[in-house]
Amino acid sequence: MHEASIVSGLMAILLDQAAKHAVEHIRRVTVKVGRLRSVEPRALVGCFEMFAEGTVADGAELVVETVPIRGRCEDCGEEFEISGFVFRCSRCQGSRITVISGEELYIDNFET
Ligand SMILES: [Zn+2]
Repeated sequence: MHEASIVSGLMAILLDQAAKHAVEHIRRVTVKVGRLRSVEPRALVGCFEMFAEGTVADGAELVVETVPIRGRCEDCGEEFEISGFVFRCSRCQGSRITVISGEELYIDNFET
């Protein structure tokens, strides 16, 4: 399962950070997930609850913030949000698009 491997990776980072800062209990974790990751937030939350059991994050709330896909046109420099996976410039219709956001996957912060 896609989400399980993601949560397992995030959890390792989270527990490492918690240990470094001598945190005893985590109440809330906010993660940023780019839309290109095709992650289902509900599945992520479910996995998180499972992985958190018995750790300092047991019972913590997972907040998933979805980051939209943004691209930059290599022809005219326009930056725009890509919706519906149409990789075409909204200004000049150019198709040489560099993705500048949407691939995020990290812990933004956590509250204790
Ligand atoms: Zn353009």
